[in-house]
Amino acid sequence: MGTLTGRTALVTGGSRGIGRAIAERLGREGAVVAVHYGRAADAADEVVAAIRAGGGSAFAVHAELGVSGDVETLWEGYDRQILEHADRAGLDILVNNAGITPRGEIEETTAESFDEAVAVNMRAPFFLTQQGLKRLRDGGRIVNISSGATRIALTDIIAYAMTKGAVEAFTLTLAKALGGRGITVNSVAPGIVDTDINASWLRGNEAAERSAAALSALGRVGRPEDVADVVAFLASDDGRWVTGQVVDATGGSQL
Ligand code: NAP
Repeated sequence: MGTLTGRTALVTGGSRGIGRAIAERLGREGAVVAVHYGRAADAADEVVAAIRAGGGSAFAVHAELGVSGDVETLWEGYDRQILEHADRAGLDILVNNAGITPRGEIEETTAESFDEAVAVNMRAPFFLTQQGLKRLRDGGRIVNISSGATRIALTDIIAYAMTKGAVEAFTLTLAKALGGRGITVNSVAPGIVDTDINASWLRGNEAAERSAAALSALGRVGRPEDVADVVAFLASDDGRWVTGQVVDATGGSQL
């Protein structure tokens, strides 16, 4: 028996990176995992296969976020499949992980990239959660993936940092709104993690990797599993008394 046996989880952006590690960890803990993806259908199928190979249960759900009808598409796909995998409808754990990181100083940020970041990083989790509340069981969990960029000023991702600040305000306020139902709501803020989001400047660039590692008190770049393990704690019964918080999972960056 894992810590999440009998629970159902939805991980947005579960097809790659941090979301993939979260989906796999929750699956190992016994949750039935809905692995949401946008474009990477093959990657989502791989995650589902990996969870099943480990003895768990999972299925893929498609929806491009940040476009009209996104949330409806996602929940429709979830509702259509859940009873093939779990013995009841509904949800216990919602992980709002999917996100994009437009790069640019304030002078370089276009209205288009700003609006896209707002639509994917802020608007989609807000309305996904709103439409999910009737599915989420009392005693459930919501975990929103924020970023260390809300604590550390990184001028080249200023619009992104704003969207994650909004995610943290959402977390705080929602935790109060849902406390009466025993639902906890927390954010996890990763530092620099080796995922595709950072591939263009980090991978294969030793100097960039050294300076990214030096930001952390622990002296290395983060791995998706470093974040997934924190999410698994918050999602479990052990996390029951933590709500409305931002858990810094940056490996002590810029202390
Ligand atoms: P990643 O490797 O680029 O993966 C992003 C995931 O989000 C993919 O599964 C992708 O799905 C999904 N996604 C992105 N845009 C989408 C859209 N418009 N519609 C549907 N799905 C979409 O990113 P990551 O590094 O794992 O980041 C995950 C979360 O952690 C993000 O919220 C990010 O801001 C946050 N974070 C990351 C870091 C870091 O250093 N990596 C640091 C702090 C915070 P498809 O590929 O299927 O389209």
